[in-house]
Amino acid sequence: MAIFPIRVYPDPVLRSPAAPVERIDGHIRRLVDDMLETMYQAPGVGLAAPQIGVALQVVVFDVGEGPHHLINPVLLETAGSWTFDEGCLSVPDRFWSVRRPGFARARGLNLDGDEVEYAGEELLGRVLQHETDHLKGTIILHRLPRRLRKQAMKEMREEALGLSEGR
Ligand code: ZN
Repeated sequence: MAIFPIRVYPDPVLRSPAAPVERIDGHIRRLVDDMLETMYQAPGVGLAAPQIGVALQVVVFDVGEGPHHLINPVLLETAGSWTFDEGCLSVPDRFWSVRRPGFARARGLNLDGDEVEYAGEELLGRVLQHETDHLKGTIILHRLPRRLRKQAMKEMREEALGLSEGR
């Protein structure tokens, strides 16, 4: 297993749709292991493959019930409404009060190639929505009201620029 650096906005890999996994092999098993290790080390409750620079439809999460993964996940259903201080490892140290559906249900494959489904309210519901968003190239910044979004994107771009100039 290995810990990978987490890509930060405006990295293009975070803003592009990820490709479906076509064959679940050793490469994908290792990817899931590496993603879990990277997520726990961060620490975070969810991670999508593009966040470590891999443009494939794989997510991992742990909302306190142990490690889970979903390959080629599809968000099947959302309902209700819940406001939560949401953050993202790719937009570090920032949290916004974001309102989204409270309940979510997602289906995908596990490493054995079996269809699996996760459904839940609150934190699990939020993680399922947040991580499947990543696979479409959508990040938390896109879920903010326009003015907040523009401000945050500007700050992140300036920070990225400042870092590269300082090297
Ligand atoms: Zn995220």
